[in-house]
This record gives sequence, structure tokens and C-alpha cells, in this order.
Amino acid sequence: MGSVKVSQLTKEFSGVHALKNVNLDIQEGEFFALLGPSGCGKTTTMRCIAGFEQPTSGTIQIGEAKVNHIPPNKRNCGMVFQSYALFPHMNVFENVAYSLNIKQLNSSNIAAKLPIYLRLLNRKLGKYPKPIEQKVMEILEYVELDKHATRLTSELSGGQQQRVALARALVMEPAVLLMDEPLSNLDQKLRHSMRNTIRRIQQDLGITTIFVTHDQEEAMSMADRVAVMDSGEVKQIGTPIELYSRPSTPFIANFVGTSNVLKGTVVGQENGYSVVKGHGFLIKSTNHVEQKEVNVIVRPENIKAFKPGTISSDELTNIIEGTVLVSTYLGSIVRYDIKVEEYQLVVDTTFVPGESILTEGEKVQLTIDPER
Ligand code: ADP
Ligand code: MG
Repeated sequence: MGSVKVSQLTKEFSGVHALKNVNLDIQEGEFFALLGPSGCGKTTTMRCIAGFEQPTSGTIQIGEAKVNHIPPNKRNCGMVFQSYALFPHMNVFENVAYSLNIKQLNSSNIAAKLPIYLRLLNRKLGKYPKPIEQKVMEILEYVELDKHATRLTSELSGGQQQRVALARALVMEPAVLLMDEPLSNLDQKLRHSMRNTIRRIQQDLGITTIFVTHDQEEAMSMADRVAVMDSGEVKQIGTPIELYSRPSTPFIANFVGTSNVLKGTVVGQENGYSVVKGHGFLIKSTNHVEQKEVNVIVRPENIKAFKPGTISSDELTNIIEGTVLVSTYLGSIVRYDIKVEEYQLVVDTTFVPGESILTEGEKVQLTIDPER
């Protein structure tokens, strides 16, 4: 019921190609993140799914139904924006109850509407129909705002306002929850705790969620799967682990963490390894690709650094010579910037108390596990 399928979605704004053939297949109950730099088309994708924007071409399916020509209020999507979009002159309860009242008005007959109209005119806590009041209070309790039900939203902190916006979307029991950069206006500490709150609620309710962010850590820590977008296109879709360990391009590698990218040429196959030759290195990899010209992408934690002559015998594959440019002690790890020919590689090593840290100008031997 709450699955979302986007097929060949294209959107042009007077000559601007905001989206180019975007395909997404989001499972019921999944927490799915759209990740990418500003301007890559995340919001446009969300607005097309919600129905605020008509695609230039392509189809959008929610559950079994194609929804291209269904208006936003009939799509069963709850939406949370970066700006929260709350009514400042209404209290917390009223903000959350508002959409429920509207829904009732839309779905009931005239005679049944009348008392609700009257209640809308006299919007005070306790003057709502019992089922609405119960439902709103239940959801406010859920987001831990029940104690603040009668406060004006303009008097709340950013984190509290964010939770009102979330409650307002959830109270409608939507099949799909759409969240567009919902945490960007919060400070660092609050952002971390709201991540956990949103994830907990999403898992409790099992609600299909599409979460937009430009923050890779946010996407990677919250989502079941992530789609990385750039220039209106989806570049890769995968679980956080897949994206981190098997990024399909240098752009993705750098977007979802720090990486080293070495340009090389595949010069042959040897005992199940692809052998890649580049300037200053010869690397064996268990990864096999069609192309000859390749990028070897290695995460900083997958390179080991040794003082010359100290490499253990089980580390003899992929030895690269370099020179330490900078060493930075970061508590549990030591990060080295190491010069290898024209490259400056980032290497993270576990800090072992008692072991000396390599210093600037020292020669160093690096090894890379062919699996990584
Ligand atoms: P993101 O949310 O990833 O930052 P957007 O989806 O907002 O990106 O925008 C994608 C591209 O579409 C941008 O180049 C933006 O300028 C353009 N765009 C978005 N909305 C409009 C609009 N209403 N009119 C013209 N161009 C737009
Ligand atoms: Mg946006």
C-alpha cells in the first residue's frame, strides 16, 4: 500500500532540466533517503511525488495506483518541510488538529459538517470532537509534546516546532511520509537527537518514509537505502554499507565519506586479481571491471602505514612507497596525509598507546588489502 515507484521521471522548468529519467523503487515500510548537493533535484523529486509539481514526463505510483493526475490531498502523503510551515497564531494542539478537521470536512456530508464548522470557529482545546481530541493528544504524546499542547508554536524551540510538524503529518496516518531537509534548521546536537526520534517513530509505525538531505552522515545513519543524486540524475542506489564499500564513481565515494582516488590502467589478471598500474603504484584488486582506464578508490581506514622494513609477512601485497606530509592525532585514530608521486593520500590508522606516531618527512610504506 505504501510503496512508491517513480519511473523515468523528468522535469523541466523553462529550459532547466531539474530531473532526468529518475527511477526509484521504494518498498513499503522502507526508510529511503535522497542524498545530494544543493540544486541536484531532491526537492523537485519530492514535490512531484507529493503532487505539488507536474512531471514533464514519467510516472509516479503510490501503492498500486498511478497518481500523476491525482491532486496532492488525495495522494495519502504526509509532508514535513525544512521551514516546518506551522501556523504561528495557533497552539500546538490546533496545528495538529487542523488537517484532521479539514479531512473530516472533506469527507463528511453537509449536515455532519455543520458542528465541525462551528468548532473550527471556536478552536479551543476541549471543544473538538472527542475522537479528534484523543487522536491529536495521542500523537502529541508520541512526539513528547502533550505537555505543550496549549502553547503557541511561535513560543517553541526549533526542535519542538519540528516535532509539531512531524505530528501534524503523522496524525493523518499517511501511507507515505515525505521529509524535505527536516533537520537543517536545527543545531548540531538537536539534529543528532532528532535523527533518533524520527527513526524510532518511523520504525514503530512502519511508515514508508522518503527523507531528503544533503548531509551524508544523516542519510547513512538513518536510511535503509540511499539514492545519491547529482545534476538531476540518480547516480547510485544502495544500502549505506553498499554505497560506502562499493561506490560506483569517485563523486559518490567522496560524497559518502573520505576517499582516495588513484587513476590507473588495468594491465592484466593474475590469480583472480585485476592488476592496475598507475603513477607510483601497482595495485592488485579483487574487483573486476570491463574498462581498462579505472579509478582505484580506497577508504583511508583501508590503507595501512608502516615504517620501512617493518611490514609483517601477511601484508606483502600492494606495497606503495610514500612520504608523510602531515600527521594528526585524533584520539582513537591518527590521520596521515601521505605523498605518493602526484597524489596526496589520506590514511587513518588506529592509535596504539605506546607506539610512536610517524612524523612529517618520514618515509613510509603503505599497504592496501586487495579486497578493499
Ligand atoms: P535540491 O532540492 O536538490 O536543492 P531542487 O529540486 O530544488 O534541488 O532544484 C533542482 C533544479 O531545478 C535547480 O537547478 C533549481 O534551480 C531548479 N528549479 C527548482 N524549482 C524551480 C522552479 N520552480 N522554477 C525554475 N527552476 C527551478
Ligand atoms: Mg531542496
